[in-house]
Amino acid sequence: LAGEVEAALDRVLSWEAVVLVAGGPIPAVMARGGRNLGRPAREGLEDKLAEAARAAGLGWSGLAWGESLPPPGSPVPAAVEPLVFPLMAGSGTGGLLTVLPSGPTPGEGQLRLVAAVAQQAALSLDRWLQDARREERRLAALLEPVPVGVTLVEGDSRVRPLNQAARRMLATLRGEPADRGPGGTQLPVPAPMPAPAAGIEFSCRADQRTYLARWSAPLDPAHPEIRALILSDVTESRGRREQEMKAEKMLALGEMLSGVAHELNNPLASVVGFSQLLLSQAHEEKTRRRLTIIAEEAQRARRIVHNLLDVARARAPARAPVDLEELVNGILSLFAHQFRLENIQVDWAPPPGLPPVLGDRHQLQQVLVNLISNAQHALRSARGERRLRVQADTAGGRVRLQLSDTGPGIPPAHLDRIFDPFFTTKEQGVGTGLGLAIAARILQEHGGAIHARSEPAAGAVFTLDLPAGEVEVPARRPEAAPQRPVQGGRVLVVEDEDAFRLLLEEALEQQNYHVTTAADGAAALELLAAAEFDAVVSDLRMPVMDGLQLFQQIQDRRPELADRFVFMTGDLLDQGTRTFLEECGAPCLPKPFGLEELHRALRRLASR
Ligand code: ADP
Repeated sequence: LAGEVEAALDRVLSWEAVVLVAGGPIPAVMARGGRNLGRPAREGLEDKLAEAARAAGLGWSGLAWGESLPPPGSPVPAAVEPLVFPLMAGSGTGGLLTVLPSGPTPGEGQLRLVAAVAQQAALSLDRWLQDARREERRLAALLEPVPVGVTLVEGDSRVRPLNQAARRMLATLRGEPADRGPGGTQLPVPAPMPAPAAGIEFSCRADQRTYLARWSAPLDPAHPEIRALILSDVTESRGRREQEMKAEKMLALGEMLSGVAHELNNPLASVVGFSQLLLSQAHEEKTRRRLTIIAEEAQRARRIVHNLLDVARARAPARAPVDLEELVNGILSLFAHQFRLENIQVDWAPPPGLPPVLGDRHQLQQVLVNLISNAQHALRSARGERRLRVQADTAGGRVRLQLSDTGPGIPPAHLDRIFDPFFTTKEQGVGTGLGLAIAARILQEHGGAIHARSEPAAGAVFTLDLPAGEVEVPARRPEAAPQRPVQGGRVLVVEDEDAFRLLLEEALEQQNYHVTTAADGAAALELLAAAEFDAVVSDLRMPVMDGLQLFQQIQDRRPELADRFVFMTGDLLDQGTRTFLEECGAPCLPKPFGLEELHRALRRLASR
């Protein structure tokens, strides 16, 4: 437009400067000319233009002179009054045309011609403004529903929102109410701006959310500072990414834990067993005390290994309806005595008709025991009353169980770490930091979730969310016909670890069993072919022939012996082992086990 105006004016009169100011949705200032004007003349002209623009109601941000400055010492023409024509575009003034003539004062005819040029310019400007407005509306319609904030970064870090999401985000960043979004705002835009692909992630204190800011390439090569800035709220996806990373970490940790636990199981089984065995034989008080300490410490180590295996365990939990009310009643009654001693009040009023949850009773029990003993521990340092409240409700096929205590609560800095394995604030020997990690794992395997919240000094609240289950009447297993008793009978012990084999031999002989031992499945098979046995206590993982192969051989050769097996294993995690045990139905003692557990398993075998 400026070029056309200049060409038209050239035909009418000689001029020093032509200034075209266009106002509108995209305010623009175009200055042409200034060819022979020195700085003082320009400044005078600029003042006059600013005044004229203001009078016409146009935004004015100064002139951008089109041409280069004249060389110093160029003649400064006498100040001439500029000719100012308002450009009436559409309903209001769309701009100004200012001409600084260089020759003698223009005559009447010339002025009319300049006015005609201005009128043509106004028409073009009107068309241009309408096009610009249409473009702008189209852009807005396109951008408005986009969920990311689209903004335009102009020079000097000024950020102009181009859609609703951007207005809302900029308002939040400035700490203003979201519905009063700013027209534009100053943001600390880094210089030089990062490469378009890279972005900057930052968290906003006002709404506790995480945003990602990304820049476009320059929109106009002549103005590298003008770019689009895209703001997106990445709180959820970041949370998911963290969860995924955590899950991967847990998996790796799980594998490592399972390896370590497995290695510890065999020696620990011997320590637990021999200390118990010696204790049952010792009479001197001092020796008994020492042996008791060994036995207790070994039991403690055993519990830790059990917990490690629980953290690492990746098996799908059993799925059966579990009566939550009965489960909670049972656990609370276990704690009742302790709670009375420690003056802890318990509120538990299950709502009528609480549906069962679908899950593994044993595992859920473990979760609740972990949570309740944590609450008990916390309540010991409660300032005021000591109260544990257990609440349950159901909604949408889910059951929610909530445990709140009036203990000191969990500091915000700990809240997202308490479910990490080994995170504990308890003193050494008291906490292992595994209780909540196990609980989280179990809940996850149940298709449920566990959350903790805590207000400073207002206790902790743990919420469990579990899928509700259908009520099913469990099918009763037919009673097996009584068979030959095992107690006092002949037992074949199959175990490759010498120490543990010796322990089993001694412990069973002490209980009046007749014990024969074998160091692997092949040796056991020979013994089984040559003599009669009432029970076979066999390890699973052994050299030459393992427990599984031994069992298969027996199934083929002596099927009547197949239900006389008690297995032992240090590796319940192995999927193959688990499938085998489920299929054969034989009892299995996870190492390390107490001798009483072994006797119980044999007694149970005898009563089948
Ligand atoms: P541990 O009990 O062995 O420390 P957990 O995983 O069960 O391991 O718990 C981890 C940590 O979580 C505890 O050490 C304690 O700091 C915190 N915690 C758990 N439950 C509560 C509670 N009810 N009140 C306050 N802090 C708790």
